[in-house]
Amino acid sequence: MKQHDAMYIDGSWRPAAGGGTIEVVNPADEQVIATVPAGSAADVDAAVHAARAALPGWAATPPGERADRLAALHGRLTARADEIAGTVTAELGAPLAFSQAVHAGVPLAVCASYAELARTYAFEEKIGNSTVLHEPVGVVGAITPWNYPLHQIVAKVAPALAAGCTVVLKPAEDTPLVARLFAECVDEAGIPAGVFNLVTGLGPVAGQALAAHEGVDLVSFTGSTAVGRRIGALAGAEVKRVALELGGKSANVILPGADLARAVAVGVANVMANSGQTCSAWTRMLVHKDSYAEAVELAAAAAAKYVPGERVGPLVNARQQGRVRGYIEQGIAQGARVVAGGPEALEGPGYYVRPTVFADVTPEMGIAQEEIFGPVLALLEYEDEDDAVRIANGTVYGLAGAVWAGDDATAAAFARRLDTGQVDINGGRFNPLAPFGGYKQSGIGRELGPHGLTEYLQTKSLQF
Ligand code: NAD
Repeated sequence: MKQHDAMYIDGSWRPAAGGGTIEVVNPADEQVIATVPAGSAADVDAAVHAARAALPGWAATPPGERADRLAALHGRLTARADEIAGTVTAELGAPLAFSQAVHAGVPLAVCASYAELARTYAFEEKIGNSTVLHEPVGVVGAITPWNYPLHQIVAKVAPALAAGCTVVLKPAEDTPLVARLFAECVDEAGIPAGVFNLVTGLGPVAGQALAAHEGVDLVSFTGSTAVGRRIGALAGAEVKRVALELGGKSANVILPGADLARAVAVGVANVMANSGQTCSAWTRMLVHKDSYAEAVELAAAAAAKYVPGERVGPLVNARQQGRVRGYIEQGIAQGARVVAGGPEALEGPGYYVRPTVFADVTPEMGIAQEEIFGPVLALLEYEDEDDAVRIANGTVYGLAGAVWAGDDATAAAFARRLDTGQVDINGGRFNPLAPFGGYKQSGIGRELGPHGLTEYLQTKSLQF
């Protein structure tokens, strides 16, 4: 077991101000694999001061040089991609192939995109007799969750650095090891001291101190709606900028005329990936009443192929495992029908949950309204297109979704009626440059690509 006793502040690894530690547990075998320091308000304060001190120099660094540093960071992350995948598998429990393809692969693509954007983005524009400057917002406090631990770090830190901001990162307590690896890569990439700082620690202590710190100009948070609300309230009280990426309960709408077998197979895979711990997962499958029975059979058969410990990993911790099993029990109690999986425990160690498919789900049930964050799919039946729109839009969330139809134009016309930030048409591919973020209570702001960069910029107009 590795005992880490330092945090990355002002360009070097320093001991924490307090003595507390956080245990990192491998969720597949429940063994403690490492400890990291539990940072305190004093550590956050030191990191914010370092970030403030580094801000003028980094903000004044020409974008082309910032691009060079981001390209060097991409190079270091690429060189350590296997280590990244192994680390995420150890602390999150994701199957190694998924860690390689997604947990390491996606952040590499996003980091490369911001090296390119820093080089090419128009940080100045002309509007009539004005020159408009797009300037960095300042010091960013980034608070990230554990479900895509490196992706969520890179999706904040890379655009912030491209924009000329400096950053203090407080990663999730369950997955601090890949955050440490990222800090090492930042250091190896020659990014100047203080531009990026890492404080590991507990949410209500280090996270809260960072969100409330007067030296932070923008808080960028990804995680639960409950914590997002608190952070939004704190930021509002101080007229501080805030970006929130929160939960989802996204709909996968299969219209008549779609390739049902493909739509159901891709839909089930989407929910089971990362053990269902994906904010944009299509956790509600909406099927026309004429195809509903067939879709239920297809979904149950597809889910049975997700064998825990092989194609699907454990949940991140015992609390999440208990929470997800609780939702499965709630679904049964409310009259939904389990056609695959169920709440029963699996043999052996690890925080596993059976991949579960519910049929006969009605829109008002808890399992059709709330984010479960586990491998649980709800199948709902609709009468006609208007009914499908009503059900799809009938939650407080609006992060993602999918539409399947006989042709793209029909699916896209339906997608225009959805209150949600992203929709995949007939299995459209993930695009790391497309804006990602929520309608309604799924959040405020957008990440990725040029839209993600503008979150870290503010404008100044010079009139001539
Ligand atoms: P969380 O919101 O508690 O944690 C996310 C991050 O916020 C972590 O870094 C945590 O340390 C920090 N945090 C916690 N309390 C804080 C506070 N008071 N002030 C500042 N920072 C704080 O999420 P969780 O408890 O790990 O997961 C619970 C649920 O949240 C999940 O079941 C899921 O529904 C949802 N979730 C959503 C996402 C997403 O990507 N949208 C990610 C993780 C979790």
